[in-house]
Amino acid sequence: MHEVSVMSSIVEAVLTELRKYEIESVEEVYLTVGEMTYLGAEQLEFAYEFLTQGTLLEGSKLVIEPEKITVKCSTCGYEGGIKYLGDEEEDGVYHTQLPVISCPECAGQVEVVNGRSCVVKSVKAVEKDV
Ligand SMILES: [Zn+2]
Repeated sequence: MHEVSVMSSIVEAVLTELRKYEIESVEEVYLTVGEMTYLGAEQLEFAYEFLTQGTLLEGSKLVIEPEKITVKCSTCGYEGGIKYLGDEEEDGVYHTQLPVISCPECAGQVEVVNGRSCVVKSVKAVEKDV
């Protein structure tokens, strides 16, 4: 599972960062996950729970904030979101969508601006009373 190895390095990085502070407990960890990483939120949560066992992060909540893909077109200068294949709404639910990495205006070549990151945005922790 790809998610486990990704999450493993994230957990490691957060723990390293937390060691610099006097932390009592951690409540929430905010993770930005780009659409283009194709990482599953459920799998990430599962991996998080598993990997944080016995660490300072055990019992904390992983909050995943999805990052939409945005692109920049080198042909017409378009900047913004992209089109999706199978982009349809049914009973208020969006079904699995496949991002189309090309310009929605002119179908030209684009540069991906957002949607590739998988980073910890912030950590909500309780500091020790000293
Ligand atoms: Zn274009």
